[in-house]
Amino acid sequence: DAAEADATVTAWVARFTERVRGAVDELTDLDRRAGDGDFGVTMDAGLRDAPDPSTPLSPAATFSRLSRSFLENAGGTSGALFGAIFHRMADATAGRDLTAEVLADAVRGALEIVVQLGGASAGDRTMVDALAPAADALDGARGESVAAALAAAADAAARGAEATATMTARRGRASYVGDAARDVVDPGALAVAWFFAAGAEAAAG
Ligand code: ADP
Ligand code: MG
Ligand code: MG
Repeated sequence: DAAEADATVTAWVARFTERVRGAVDELTDLDRRAGDGDFGVTMDAGLRDAPDPSTPLSPAATFSRLSRSFLENAGGTSGALFGAIFHRMADATAGRDLTAEVLADAVRGALEIVVQLGGASAGDRTMVDALAPAADALDGARGESVAAALAAAADAAARGAEATATMTARRGRASYVGDAARDVVDPGALAVAWFFAAGAEAAAG
């Protein structure tokens, strides 16, 4: 029901926020080894006005608030891209029950806007390498429960993020360091994997 959906997405975003806030140094270090070292700070800033979990809102309002926080507080590529992802998730969930079907459409839309804005393809060593497998997993789980769908998305995104360590960047600042980024997981892909892991944990209760 609606109250359960509100609680799930509120917990989802709260878990994601906690995870990122607790890993700012780790994310910055990854971006330093394969980029310009501002990713952790950018994510932390993007979460400055993240929704307060003590007052649960609807899924659309929760994602909308998160989007606005990224767009207003975070600079850099990832501020704009995460802002766009959460904006799409807000649009796709507005006025609809939270189902695996709705989530599949939401994440497909988020992937499309990221590709439209950033022009990255699969294998370019960006967040797309976690977001695209998550979208595919959700497509394959349209008839399932929200918890099962998010578990599948989390698994796919984690494997996608892990695979970025073997890719050479062709987009973003990491492309400037070329093969030096080998064996380093792309921080944007890792953050996307954490987003779906948080969703799976929240939906599992
Ligand atoms: P920058 O310092 O390059 O402005 P951030 O450090 O804020 O960017 O974000 C870096 C992350 O953004 C990367 O780890 C990658 O996942 C993602 N990223 C960078 N460029 C793109 C792009 N063109 N398309 C999709 N994701 C991108
Ligand atoms: Mg950076
Ligand atoms: Mg930068």
